[in-house]
Amino acid sequence: MTKQHERLIVVSNRLPFSFRRDDSGKWRAEASGGGLVTALLPVLRHRGGIWIGWPGTSEDVPDISPELPVAGEDTGFTLQAVSLTAEEVRNFYEGFSNEVIWPLFHDMQLLCNFDPAYWRTYREVNRKFARAAHKASRAGDFIWVHDYHLMNVALELRRLGTKARIGFFLHIPFPPPDIYLKLPWRMALIDALLQFDLVGFQTAHDRRNFLQCVRALVKDAEIDGRGQIVQASVGGREVRIGNFPISIDYNAFMRQAASPEVAARAKELHRMLPNRNVILGIDRLDYTKGIPLRLQAFQDLLTRYPDLRERVSLIQVVVPSREDIAQYRDLKTEIEQLVGRINGTFVQPGGWVPVWYVYRSLSRVDLIAYYRAADIGLITPLKDGMNLVAKEYCACSIEEDCTLILSEFAGAAMQLGRSALLVNPYDIEGVADAIHRAFHMDKAERQARMRRMRRSIREYDVFWWVDSFLRAAITKDLRAFPLPENHVADESADHALLF
Ligand code: UDP
Repeated sequence: MTKQHERLIVVSNRLPFSFRRDDSGKWRAEASGGGLVTALLPVLRHRGGIWIGWPGTSEDVPDISPELPVAGEDTGFTLQAVSLTAEEVRNFYEGFSNEVIWPLFHDMQLLCNFDPAYWRTYREVNRKFARAAHKASRAGDFIWVHDYHLMNVALELRRLGTKARIGFFLHIPFPPPDIYLKLPWRMALIDALLQFDLVGFQTAHDRRNFLQCVRALVKDAEIDGRGQIVQASVGGREVRIGNFPISIDYNAFMRQAASPEVAARAKELHRMLPNRNVILGIDRLDYTKGIPLRLQAFQDLLTRYPDLRERVSLIQVVVPSREDIAQYRDLKTEIEQLVGRINGTFVQPGGWVPVWYVYRSLSRVDLIAYYRAADIGLITPLKDGMNLVAKEYCACSIEEDCTLILSEFAGAAMQLGRSALLVNPYDIEGVADAIHRAFHMDKAERQARMRRMRRSIREYDVFWWVDSFLRAAITKDLRAFPLPENHVADESADHALLF
C-alpha cells in the first residue's frame, strides 16, 4: 500500500530509465543500473511517487509528453517526462550546466563560457521542471531535486505556490568563494539555492564552501550550529544545510565480485598479465579526472624505478563521454598520444605492454572483474564530488589484498583518507612514489587498510545515504546525525588542511 500523504517526487535532469515497447505496443520503463536509482526505487515503491526528468534525445526514447506519464506498473510509481527543444538542450544542458557550472564547480574557471544566453535558458528550463513538479505534487509530499542542472527549481516552485517541502542534493563539489564569486549570476544562484528547505552536499568541505559564499553574499543570513547539518535563517525562512556522502550498493557489488563468472574473468586477466601487479584506472572521459597527469606519473615511475619495469601494468579504462564537445575530443587525443609515447618507450615486443588502454564502456561483469583483479586502484581526479569508482573498487576487493591510491581532491578522500594512500594528483613524482610504496607495501598493512575502508563503505552505503537525507529533511532534532567516523573527524584530519 502506498501512503497517500508522504509521496516522494524525485526531480533529476535525466530520467534514469530506458524505454522499450512490450508485445502490446505499450511503452515500458526499465531502470538503469546506477546507484541512485537502485537506492531510490525501494523508497519510491514504498511511499509511492513520481520521478520527473528529461528522457534524453536518443531514438530509443518514446515521444512522451508531460501530459502522458509512463506508468511503470511493475515499479509502483510514475515516470513523467519533461521534453526539451534542441535549443534548450544546447543552452541549458550543454551550455549553462556543462560549460559553466561543471568547470566552475570543479575549480576550472578558465574553461567556463559565461554566455548570458545560457543563463536565460537555464532559468526557463528550470521553470519547466518546476511546473511539472508543481502539477504533480501536493501538500505533504517531499520533492527531492538532484544536481547542478536544477538549482533554480525551488525558487520557481515557491513562485508557483507549492506547499510540499523541497530538498536538493548537489552531486558535484561546491567551490570556495574565490572561485564561486567569478560567476556573473552568483547572487541569483545563491538566493535560488536558499529557497530549498534542505540543501545537501557531498562533504563537510563543500558545505563549508557554500556557507562561506552565503556569508559573503547574503547579508541578512544567520547561520546557526555546527556538525553535519546547520540551520540558516534567511529572509524569515529556515534552510537546513548538510553533508551526506553518497555511496554505492555495497552488498550488490560484493556479491557479484564473488560470483564464479567474475572470478573466472579476473583469473583470465591475471593469466594474461603473469607475475605482474595490475594497476587500474577507470574514468569517464573528463578533464576533471586527471588522466594525462596520471599517465605522466606512471611514465615517471617506470623511468625512476626501473626495477618495476615488467612487474607492473596499468589498465586505463576511459568511458566515452560528451564527445561532441571539442575539449573532450582534445583530451582523448592527448590521452592516446601519452599512451602511445609510454608504450613506445618501454614496450617489450612479444612481451610486456606497460599501458593497456581501453576506450569503451565495460559490461558489469568486466567492470567488476577488473576491480577484483587489480592490485592497485589508481584514482586521481583533479577534483571530484565523491568518486564512486573508488568505493566500488574497495567493495569488489573481496580478498582485501590490494591498495587504493586516491586523490586528496576526491570527496571519497574525506571518508577513506586515513586508509587509502592519499596523493596530490598534480604532483607527478608524488603519485609515482605512492605507486612504488603500494607495490612494496607488506601484506598485513595492505589488508588492514583495505579492511577499514570496506567496513566504512559497507556501513555507510547508498541506502544509508537516502535514509539520512530524508531524515534530515523531517527530523526535529538536528543533533541526531551521526556520520562515518572519518567524517566526524574530517574537519581536523590532516588532509583537510590542504583544502
Ligand atoms: N561505470 C560504468 N561503465 C563503465 C565504467 C564505469 O557505468 O564502463 C560506472 C561506475 O561503475 C561508476 C560510475 O560509472 O558507478 C562513475 O561514477 P564516478 O562517481 O566515479 O564518476 P562520474 O562519472 O559520475 O563523474
